[in-house]
Amino acid sequence: MKLYSTKSRGHYTSLREAVLRGLPPDNGLYMPAEIPALPSDILDNLPAFSFTEIAMAVSRTLLQNAIPEADLRQIVEEAVNFPAPVVRLDEQKYVLELFHGPSLAFKDFGARFMAQLMSYFNRGESRELVILVATSGDTGGAVAAGFYQTPGTRVVILYPSGKVSALQEKQLTTLGHNITALEIDGTFDDCQAMVKQAFLDPELTEAIRLTSANSINISRLIPQAFYYFEAYKQLPAGSDVVFCVPSGNFGNLTAGLLAQRMGLPVKHFVAATNANDVVPEYLKTGSFNPRPSQRTLSNAMDVGNPSNFARMQDLYQAMEQRSTWNNMRANISGYRFTDEETKAAMREVYERYGYVIDPHGAVGYLALQSNQQENPGTTGVILETAHPAKFLPDVEAVLDQNVEVPQRLAELSGLEKEAVFMDADFGVFKSWLQDNLS
Ligand SMILES: *Cc1c(COP(=O)(O)O)cnc(C)c1O
Repeated sequence: MKLYSTKSRGHYTSLREAVLRGLPPDNGLYMPAEIPALPSDILDNLPAFSFTEIAMAVSRTLLQNAIPEADLRQIVEEAVNFPAPVVRLDEQKYVLELFHGPSLAFKDFGARFMAQLMSYFNRGESRELVILVATSGDTGGAVAAGFYQTPGTRVVILYPSGKVSALQEKQLTTLGHNITALEIDGTFDDCQAMVKQAFLDPELTEAIRLTSANSINISRLIPQAFYYFEAYKQLPAGSDVVFCVPSGNFGNLTAGLLAQRMGLPVKHFVAATNANDVVPEYLKTGSFNPRPSQRTLSNAMDVGNPSNFARMQDLYQAMEQRSTWNNMRANISGYRFTDEETKAAMREVYERYGYVIDPHGAVGYLALQSNQQENPGTTGVILETAHPAKFLPDVEAVLDQNVEVPQRLAELSGLEKEAVFMDADFGVFKSWLQDNLS
């Protein structure tokens, strides 16, 4: 497999380098140089294949010969060890539940696959790979769970003290083993700045094999394509399928575009956002205006400058006479909704279908509804990106109902928090890394 940077098409990198580096040196994003179609004997018979076999077929096709078959199978089986079921709301609306992994959100797919690939590419190295992550909450939990007990890896997570939810903190601080949480007396920006500085510090990078678990690592995108095929296989044959994706950094939606390029017959995509609507605005007007994010109820989508937009543009680069914008809006429609509308949608889905949907999924529900009013007759699939119990106080207040908490979440509250409290000071952080990891 060869990859290029969105900022220098024509310069190729191996999968190993793209995964271990995360970001190209020119600050673009890695993209696969070729996106081959899935073999038709699989594509035309998806229902005959298990989720694992579909994930294998997608990986084999996209990764080409980067990883031998037997190793790839181990990686895929370890990464995709939970299901992605489709639940029917009515004849035209379905929900794809992506929350059956350890951290109860779709990010588990990306984090687990990335952990497996990094561990694989670090085999045979004498030093362990140290993954530094700054988190404002959600990503850290998925990364921690994804790398937990993965051979040859150590994870150091920096999170801002008092600024993540109690549940998120438990997800970061209770695993132990190869996962260490640093509770930073500062903001998320402080955490991020400390991590960035560590990568620029020659003394540290000499002594320790550092890498990042950045959300734009290509290894997080690839496994997210798996479940679009898995969802399609569960729908009535011959449907005009529309995927509706609650979006923040647009990684999830970009993975859907990859699946489509690999031959999945998706009719259209719907980009659903909260008030942070720079992509829906771009689709409407043709101009992309990043701006500071706004806080909302669906806070995992509070992103003012979506990092994967560069990949979306890359996929739709002007071909023939049409502009990038025209290409993109022919395939994706965007909608935005307020928190009040989101709460009303959560109640509507519960009352109409008896289904408890989380605030992110509820934004998706609204967007699908709008799109189907404009284009009747499609079969819509809302990606339910997290389990509603992850947002328990909000969901219970909106529905005026108790929400069932999955056992793996309930167990967390009994576990002891273990974190190293630290000033937001790079010198202190550097000494800690030198003393504990080199
Ligand atoms: C991260 C996240 C999103 C946004 O996904 P992107 O790939 O960044 O667009 C949506 N919902 C939940 C619950 C998330 O954790």
